[in-house]
Amino acid sequence: MSNTKLKQFMSQMSFCIDQGLGKETQKKATIKCWQTYVQDMPTGNEEGEFLALDLGGSNFRVLKLELGINKYFKMDQQTYVISKDLMIGSGIQLFDYIAECLNNFVNSQGIKSTSYLPLGFTFSFPISQLSINSGKLVRWTKGFTCDGVVDEDVVKLLNKSIKKSKDLNVTICSLLNDTVGTLMSCAWLNSKTKIGLIVGTGCNCCYVEKVKNIKSYNGSSTKEEMIINLEWGAFGDNDELSDFLTKYDKIVDRNSEHPSQQIFEKMVSGKYLGELLRLILLDMIKGKLIFDGMIPKILNTPQSLTTNVISLIESDPPGTFTNSRKFLREIGVNNSTDSDCMNLRYAAECISKRSAHLVAAGLTVLLNKMNTKDVTIGVDGSVYRYHPFYHQLLVDKINELVNIGIKFDIILSEDGSGRGAAILASAVCKKSKE
Ligand code: BGC
Ligand code: MG
Repeated sequence: MSNTKLKQFMSQMSFCIDQGLGKETQKKATIKCWQTYVQDMPTGNEEGEFLALDLGGSNFRVLKLELGINKYFKMDQQTYVISKDLMIGSGIQLFDYIAECLNNFVNSQGIKSTSYLPLGFTFSFPISQLSINSGKLVRWTKGFTCDGVVDEDVVKLLNKSIKKSKDLNVTICSLLNDTVGTLMSCAWLNSKTKIGLIVGTGCNCCYVEKVKNIKSYNGSSTKEEMIINLEWGAFGDNDELSDFLTKYDKIVDRNSEHPSQQIFEKMVSGKYLGELLRLILLDMIKGKLIFDGMIPKILNTPQSLTTNVISLIESDPPGTFTNSRKFLREIGVNNSTDSDCMNLRYAAECISKRSAHLVAAGLTVLLNKMNTKDVTIGVDGSVYRYHPFYHQLLVDKINELVNIGIKFDIILSEDGSGRGAAILASAVCKKSKE
């Protein structure tokens, strides 16, 4: 995608962010710019023991964290699988399961008898937040469709399920998006962090905005800043991206759990990149460009390729095809030529490059808008973590697009969803004790 095209993308996105921040325009905006009620940046001297829940992708985690002065940090965690049935079942079942896992974890940690356990709940879906510890689910994304949750306060739902275990005594202090956890977790280490980004199963971003620019805010805070959860995955839901969509994007959207929603997210995030590769390969085969025109059976099954295939293929040193050939043998292509492998790699590169360049364009919109000389961006998510050049693709493209004089750094967030949740829970429980 040319820089001219990316700049067109940037001005559209910038317009949509302004709409999301506007009082009258937020309603129709695709980038909602939700308030998070997070206004204090971490100090590094947060103290205490906390629980955290992290729900947002195919895994669900329960964590116990300890924070102490001078950036002391210790963490134990347990991962639980969220089955496909739970993802599309009833909301009550989902929250009961979460509470059950929490109970199981607390027992296994031997902390059950403690009277007060503050908990941070990282819930990585669009939430219209009402306070730091309440918020309504706006819509499900990323394959979840549980009924009875949209428009409900997810903290209330979780509390209801927790109450079913009589001796589980936890207090949900904070509700946060994973991008916010990522930002907080990096800011705890590096005070220049002002942007949090996730490129994982889904994609989203948050940033620190001046309260005076948040026209949709009608609270009475005297503090100057607040973290805004952009929910930029929904960019394009009003046809803003029609000039950018390929026929493959349209098929991915049509076959998804939530057609016509999260259009930008479907172009860039891990839940969809493997499927884009499958569709492109099918097209190349049908054009007799690769594999002698023979379709490996598995490629006829939707969702049969996962995003890590792209990372593996691109991890082969240039001119070598060890991973690529291994993958091809796995899908039943045993006599691949070098040219097959080169074309396969080219398809993978087109997909990951487009993702990184669009995300870089989005980040540049924020950097230019914030107009702060030196900003650190904290990032997490499987695509960013495991793709061999995603980081470099982001850095190079932002350098081409960003306004002169703005310096930035991109750093990996070490477990934002957990540590960020604990940092926020500590701030809130301190306040309620004061
Ligand atoms: C959700 C966001 C989340 C992102 C990354 C998106 O589908 O709407 O709330 O931050 O995925 O997990
Ligand atoms: Mg996550």
